Amino acid sequence: MADLSIINPATEALIQTLPTDDTAAVAQKVSQARAAQPDWAARSRSARIEPIQKFRDLLTERADALAATLTAETGKPISQSKSEILATPQRIDFFIENVARVLAPESVYREPSQALPGTGELEEIISTDPLGAVASISAWNYPYFVGSNVFIPALLTGNTVLYKPSEIATLTGLAIADLFHEAGIPEDVFIPVIGTGLAGAALLEQPIDGVFFTGSYSTGQKIAIAAAPKLIKVQLELGGKDPAYVCDDVDVATVAAGLADGAFYNNGQSCCAVERIYVHADVYEPFVEAFVQTVRAFKMGDPTDSDTYLGPLSRKPQLTVLEQQIEDALAKGAKLRCGGQPSNRSGWYFEPTVLTEVTHEMTLMREETFGPVIGIQRVSDDASAIALMNDTAYGLTAAVYGRNRDRALQILSQVSSGSAYWNCCDRVSPRLPWTGRGHSGIGSTLSVAGIDAFLQPRAWHLRAG
Ligand code: NAD
Repeated sequence: MADLSIINPATEALIQTLPTDDTAAVAQKVSQARAAQPDWAARSRSARIEPIQKFRDLLTERADALAATLTAETGKPISQSKSEILATPQRIDFFIENVARVLAPESVYREPSQALPGTGELEEIISTDPLGAVASISAWNYPYFVGSNVFIPALLTGNTVLYKPSEIATLTGLAIADLFHEAGIPEDVFIPVIGTGLAGAALLEQPIDGVFFTGSYSTGQKIAIAAAPKLIKVQLELGGKDPAYVCDDVDVATVAAGLADGAFYNNGQSCCAVERIYVHADVYEPFVEAFVQTVRAFKMGDPTDSDTYLGPLSRKPQLTVLEQQIEDALAKGAKLRCGGQPSNRSGWYFEPTVLTEVTHEMTLMREETFGPVIGIQRVSDDASAIALMNDTAYGLTAAVYGRNRDRALQILSQVSSGSAYWNCCDRVSPRLPWTGRGHSGIGSTLSVAGIDAFLQPRAWHLRAG
């Protein structure tokens, strides 16, 4: 397979060229991971936890260098790269603290002996086994978060991992593999697979025991189709078109500032970025004014500067997607409040853009934008907001801002989404399942469900002889 060119999105300079894994190399790696899995699973729980704790400590110790690499290859502002890396140990700790209770065999039923032949005491027990050698095919936008949601519980539960980082965060993927190996995870227990989607597709041709994917809906669909004949576990964490509704009783300035951050953090390149805002007519104008003022104040610049909030986009083709969505919206009557085009800086920068007077006839309000562009729509009541929030094939997160908890929960309970936020957004907790409905995915990462996902149950029917 062709070499991979790693480009710096802020300068468009070539950082490095890397060899990629061809089909034969991928097959070899899968067979190594399969061969290593029984020994890894046979280790005591603490012998698996120990190197993962060391990995967690190395992340913190090396945060500056790791953040510099992530920023160089994705353009993520350095402060955001660093905060992602420094927040990852919190997820790792959750998994470590909870793995014992998920792995513990559970005795669920006992029946005393009947004193007749063949009717000795009966016990029913549920235990678990690891899936085996699993593939983690990952996205670039939060490689430490979305990676550790998969590879940490996979390793803790006795699986070996073939980790295919995104081609856009490959240096970070290799750095993660080096840290694991330095921490004491054997090289054939955590194996990086390097390349574009071709390397990911090659993985799916091999005898893997599960595939855990984070990425776009269209790739997720291909993965599900490729995995179907194998009848292996498929988990998909996909995109979103996440809505927020602002009720008529809010403090407009506070909510506008919170939502602007929810929409523009990491340049809007978050699966749970706010992508559509509906505002009650009574507060629409002041909300739009406060929102645009906040957005105009965001500092765009060199992502290696510690006070930069908006860096370049990580993928050049996304510039065209944004231009097309804006053009379509303007042609259908939207009003441009700020931004609207690529920035005149060199690199893949796009001006933060706010459009109002938008409708659901526009692709901006229907398809994932994944960039610093947002539409704000006026609504007359809660019922219209609910209908619009549900008018999407995605269902990742939804937010309601308002003073009344009962009203907000009533609205959120009628919106189809994996996560529901009241007076907050763009938030992920290790204690809660991260899951999508509809085109946003299948299965859950994080929480105890996100540990269980890497195990298969076994039912024991034990009768004393
Ligand atoms: P992508 O779908 O382009 O790529 C994801 C991964 O799939 C990459 O590693 C890529 O090389 C690989 N791939 C591509 N084609 C493949 C194929 N045919 N077979 C196997 N692997 C293949 O997505 P991306 O651009 O890296 O990430 C952005 C998307 O990810 C957005 O839609 C975003 O919303 C979503 N995302 C979702 C979550 C979540 O938790 N729900 C988190 C982060 C990102």
